[in-house]
Amino acid sequence: MNPRTNPVVIAGAGPAGLFAAVLLVRAGHRVLVLEKNDGLAMDMRASTFHPATLDLLDPLGLADPLVFRGSITQGWQYMIHGTKQHAVFDLECIRDSTGFPFRLQCEQFHFSNIVVEYLVGSPLFEIRFTHEISEAEDRKGDVLIKALRPGGEYEIRASWLIAADGANSTIRRLLGLAFEGRPLPMASVSLVLDHPFQHDIPGIIGVNYVWTDSGYYSLKQIRNLWRFSYAPRPDQSAEQALSDEVIESHLQSIFPSEEPYRVLQRNYYNLEQRCLESFRYGHVLFIGDAAHLDSPAGGFGMNAGIHDAQCLVEHLVPVLNGKDDRLLDRYSRRRRTVVTEDIQRLAARNDRWRCETDPGQRDVIWKGLQDIVSDPGKTKEYLLNSSMIRSRQREREIG
Ligand SMILES: Cc1cc2nc3c(=O)[nH]c(=O)nc-3n(C[C@H](O)[C@H](O)[C@H](O)COP(=O)(O)OP(=O)(O)OC[C@H]3O[C@@H](n4cnc5c(N)ncnc54)[C@H](O)[C@@H]3O)c2cc1C
Repeated sequence: MNPRTNPVVIAGAGPAGLFAAVLLVRAGHRVLVLEKNDGLAMDMRASTFHPATLDLLDPLGLADPLVFRGSITQGWQYMIHGTKQHAVFDLECIRDSTGFPFRLQCEQFHFSNIVVEYLVGSPLFEIRFTHEISEAEDRKGDVLIKALRPGGEYEIRASWLIAADGANSTIRRLLGLAFEGRPLPMASVSLVLDHPFQHDIPGIIGVNYVWTDSGYYSLKQIRNLWRFSYAPRPDQSAEQALSDEVIESHLQSIFPSEEPYRVLQRNYYNLEQRCLESFRYGHVLFIGDAAHLDSPAGGFGMNAGIHDAQCLVEHLVPVLNGKDDRLLDRYSRRRRTVVTEDIQRLAARNDRWRCETDPGQRDVIWKGLQDIVSDPGKTKEYLLNSSMIRSRQREREIG
C-alpha cells in the first residue's frame, strides 16, 4: 500500500489516546487512531475520576454523561477494619477550586465509549480496529509507521505519532527506549462483587482504604456493585490467587458470611512504577501508560494520562498551525516533572501507607492522618493534591 500522509496518528484507543483525539478534532485537526484490538477494552481497571479530570472534561460536554453512568462520592476515608476508626476526607472543602467537589467512581470503559460516541461522525476522525502498529521510525520530519491488519501490512507517513499504546508500548520498544523504574513489592487482586457491603459494615462510604491486622483492602462502590482490591499472598501464583477457593476464603476471613460470595469479575495485576526519560522523541510523542506507570494507590494513572493528553494537545496544536516544534519539549518537561515529582511521589506514599503492617509505623501514619483531618487548612491542601488539582496548576508554572 502506498504511504499516505496524515497529520497525526494515535497508537492505541485507551483513555489517553482517545482524549487526545477529541481535543485535536475539536481544534480542527484530522486524526487517525490505530487500535490493535477489535474493539474498545472492557476490562476492569481505573474506576476513579478525580475533580481535576472532570474539570477538564466538562467544557467538552464529557463530564455529565460520565457522572450519569457512575457513582458520586463526596468523601472518602482511611479506616481500620478491627476498630472501625475513620479518617474521613470531605471534598466539599475544595469546592472553591473545582466544579466537581467529589470523586466519581465509574469504569474507564465508559469514558472510552463516551469519547468514541462523541467522535464518530466527525469527518476529521477515523479509528481502525484490528490495526496493530508493528514498526515506527522517526525520520526527522515525519514518522514512518507500519501497521498489521487482517490480510497484511501497510505503511503510513504521519507528521506526528502519539504513542498512547499503554504499559507494554510497542512504540517504546521499537524506539529502544529505557523505561526506568521498579516493580512494586505487592501485586493486586481486584474483584467485583454484588454483596451489599453498605448494610454490613458500619460507617462505610463510597471509597474506603482499610487496614486489616495483617494487610489492607480497598472497597469502592460503583452503582450497586463493589470493587474489592487487596494484595494477594506473595507465595500464590496469579492462578491460585484468583481461584474460587482462595478468593472465598479471603473474603470470609474479612467479612464472615453464611452465604458464599458471588464474584462477578476477578483480575490479578503486577504493579510497577516507571517513567520515560523524555515524553518526546523527535516526532513521536508519548502519553499515558506508554510514558509512565504509577501505583494504582490513589487512582492517578488514567487521570494522569488524560492530563498528559490535554497538555500535549495544548502544545501540539500551535505546532500544527505553524509554530516552532520546540514547544513540544515544554510539553515533555511539564508533564514529566509533575508525573515524577507529584503524581508518582503521592502514589508511592499511598502505596507505602497501605502496605505498612508494622504497628508502630501504622501508629505514626494514623496520627499524621488525624492531624490532617482535624485541621481544615491541612485537609484542603491534602485534597488539592490528591484531587490532582495541584499537579495541573504546577504543570502550567513550568517553563
Ligand atoms: C487494578 C488497576 C486499577 C486502576 N485504577 C485506576 C484508577 O482508579 N484511576 C486511574 O486514574 N487509573 C487507574 N489505573 C490505571 C489505568 O487503568 C491506566 O493508567 C490507563 O488505562 C492508561 O490508559 P492509556 O490510554 O495510557 O493505556 P491503555 O488503557 O492501556 O490503552 C492502550 C491501548 O493501546 C492499544 N495498543 C497497544 N499496543 C498497540 C499497537 N502496537 N498498535 C495499536 N494499538 C496498540 C491497546 O490495545 C490499548 O487499547 C488502574 C490500573 C489498574 C491495573
